Amino acid sequence: MKIGTYFAYWEKEWDVDFFPYISKAAGLGFDILEISGAGLADLPDDKVIALREEAKRCKIMLTACIGLPKEYNVSSEDEETRRNGIAYMKRLLDKMDLADIRQIGGIIYAYWPADYSLPVNKEKARAISIESVRELADYAKPYGITLTLETVNRFEQYLINDAAEATQYVKEIDRDNVKVMLDSFHMNIEEDSFYDAIVNTGEYLGHFHIGEANRKVPGKGRIPWEEISKALHDIHYDGTVVMEPFVCTGGTVGSDIKVWRDLSDHADLEKLDKDIAESCRFCKKIFG
Ligand code: MN
Repeated sequence: MKIGTYFAYWEKEWDVDFFPYISKAAGLGFDILEISGAGLADLPDDKVIALREEAKRCKIMLTACIGLPKEYNVSSEDEETRRNGIAYMKRLLDKMDLADIRQIGGIIYAYWPADYSLPVNKEKARAISIESVRELADYAKPYGITLTLETVNRFEQYLINDAAEATQYVKEIDRDNVKVMLDSFHMNIEEDSFYDAIVNTGEYLGHFHIGEANRKVPGKGRIPWEEISKALHDIHYDGTVVMEPFVCTGGTVGSDIKVWRDLSDHADLEKLDKDIAESCRFCKKIFG
């Protein structure tokens, strides 16, 4: 398994210059850097090519992740919103191809975070979402890009809350470049068993986010990493495993993720780097 990290551990905004994080991730021991789709869709081509070349130089695999904003909700009953979301995702897929990024995960089947001041019609949204994701999958196919649908907890979205719903959804989509994405942080809230959730997802699993229950780096909390690793090995998972720690307050990242207290032990940059490098070593040992 390849181990990676999400860039936002160090940042307070989603749309930032990812370039310096490529060599940084490599230097800290990672195989993958995951970047945000926010910003990539509108990044000039020369900057996209620079990311690709830097990743090649540093032997880093790039992956992308995004929670689509409300105005790009591809599960919307408003056709204009849905079309805008699809157009945005297609622009993003074009840029991903240029950047040589072959997988994107997150809430690319609806929007994030869900606005619960609005009524929820899950059945209708699900049907619209499936239609949208099929169109996106067919667009991504010639690029060799896989879409991975992130299973998130009930407080953040309502369409796919556990591995069983995700697997059922992906089966209905019926496209080989659409897979399930699980995240230990969300699983901790929604699943009866980490092991069963992963094993029952089996061959449909395409991406895995890791983090502690409070989103600290893996190894600092109580998530059962040995159990998760055993499940991934038992299904012969050979895909990407990316940590997604959020420990600092502030900015759009802090408020979107609801980081209202410092979870870094008031770390400076040097300590943040030391903690995540240690976690990377921990993950490489656990996941093998
Ligand atoms: Mn995640």
